[in-house]
Amino acid sequence: MVGSHYDRPMPSTDAHLPTKIEQHDPRTLAIAWADGAESLIDVRALRLACGCANCIDEWSGKPLLEVGSIPADIAPRDIKPVGRYAIQIDWSDGHNTGIYPFERLRKLADNGTLCATDLQRTD
Ligand SMILES: [Zn+2]
Repeated sequence: MVGSHYDRPMPSTDAHLPTKIEQHDPRTLAIAWADGAESLIDVRALRLACGCANCIDEWSGKPLLEVGSIPADIAPRDIKPVGRYAIQIDWSDGHNTGIYPFERLRKLADNGTLCATDLQRTD
């Protein structure tokens, strides 16, 4: 008989679990991570990083979201946990289908994608 088994997540992924997510100021979310790191995340950059099927083409991976279409004063109205691995954000522009896995959030925070300094880019 062939035993069935499945891969469990490595324990190290716990480092990517937030211990606290709070609104730091109207433009910024503060996330405290299980490994002690802290990230300050620009909320508009976070909206632009949405990975749902309305914002990213599922087949090509191309962004469908126009940077200029997101209001400068975009804000999260509600942040809900999705299981133990992600959050779902209800945005003030009515968009609420985006799910942000913690691991992706941490990666984007660490590589600077979610910093407030990058808002002036034109592409
Ligand atoms: Zn989206």
